[in-house]
Amino acid sequence: MRALIVDDSRPSRIVVRMVLKDLQMEVLEAENGRRALELVDQLGPGDVIFVDWNMPALNGLDFIRALRADPRYNEIRVVMVTVNGDQSEVNRALEAGANEYLMKPFDREMIKAKLQLLDCPLAS
Ligand SMILES: [Mg+2]
Repeated sequence: MRALIVDDSRPSRIVVRMVLKDLQMEVLEAENGRRALELVDQLGPGDVIFVDWNMPALNGLDFIRALRADPRYNEIRVVMVTVNGDQSEVNRALEAGANEYLMKPFDREMIKAKLQLLDCPLAS
């Protein structure tokens, strides 16, 4: 399965990438939402996107809205990643079309737990 990591912070992308590669996923990366929209054609149903909320060019919320506006991408799972855990912010992300919400700072177990919640087939 494939994953797309969208984050303007390279260190953040590296942490997620290491965990996902360990789980035998094929990993694509983008540094903002605009670039990510150019890559989503390479994903299929059941693939997963980890998207940071705060980014230049196109932020995570607007990226998710753009993604969900296209029915071809309905079956791609999306995890919003952010430092802000306010319930109202979580709700905004879910209403925009995120499937899950991951708080920074996160660790490997938190990423795995989210993938399990999303029913992603995980290599142990
Ligand atoms: Mg950011």
